Amino acid sequence: MIRLRMRAVRKTSLAALFLLMLALPQTPLFAQTSSIVKWEELTASDFVVAIQRAQLTCILPIGILEKHGPHLPLGTDLLNIRHVSLAAAQQEFAIVFPEYYFGQIFEARHEPGTVAYSAKIQLELLQETTDEMARNGCKKIVIANGHGGNEDLLPYFAQTQLATPHDYVVYVFPLPEHLDQPGRPSVKNPADMHAGETETSHMMISRPDLVHMDRAKDESGADQHRLNLPDTLYTGIWWYARFPNHYAGEGAAATKELGEFDMKEWISELVTALRAVKYDTVSLPLQNEFYEKAKHPLGTK
Ligand SMILES: [Zn+2]
Repeated sequence: MIRLRMRAVRKTSLAALFLLMLALPQTPLFAQTSSIVKWEELTASDFVVAIQRAQLTCILPIGILEKHGPHLPLGTDLLNIRHVSLAAAQQEFAIVFPEYYFGQIFEARHEPGTVAYSAKIQLELLQETTDEMARNGCKKIVIANGHGGNEDLLPYFAQTQLATPHDYVVYVFPLPEHLDQPGRPSVKNPADMHAGETETSHMMISRPDLVHMDRAKDESGADQHRLNLPDTLYTGIWWYARFPNHYAGEGAAATKELGEFDMKEWISELVTALRAVKYDTVSLPLQNEFYEKAKHPLGTK
């Protein structure tokens, strides 16, 4: 009897719940939005859910607009790093910031299509962007770099975060060192630094429709050795001295096989980095401790 009555009660309450569900406005199920990692594709309310799911972790892929030999598009670096970032964020959920081209590229100002913002704007825009990302909940920001000319800018930017207090952490994910990975298809030209075999192979994966292989030999990507200084010295004109066409390497030697190998590796390195960032509970408290001590340096000893 008791059992029967219990079952009756359960049936009634289930029916009531069903009716209530029908009466409620239909909210989209979370499963329908879970594959969206692009900031600009989320609705405002889905963003709130996504930022929690991402454990406050966001990716800012950064590229540049610059010539890429005679055969690759101006946006090559951003196209590649976004391909990597979007794939990595699908595996280890993170929100990916929209297209960001505003890095360092003075060394290609002599080539068509290059957009070279001043050093001041590069730093200010990056700071305001990360500030705005953090204001929206991205307390762990991974700047994923796709462009060689940003490799000095980004660690410097990360270092400048210590100048004034921030309630978030900036992590830099630099360009990967592809060369010494076991099993990697060999690269023919040692001066494979820009729009050459490696980068062209990457584009064959991220945007094959934009690779014009028939034009890859229209210019030389050979090292012209026009400046001979010892390795102990750096000067800004070194790149132009060696590669005046803003092309270093041999795009024509690119293969899909190399592209597939590198992209897979690149994505998995970013996935590993994202996991480490999510587990990192140390950086922010240490930053706060540092900011506090920096207010009164004489009192810390
Ligand atoms: Zn590039």
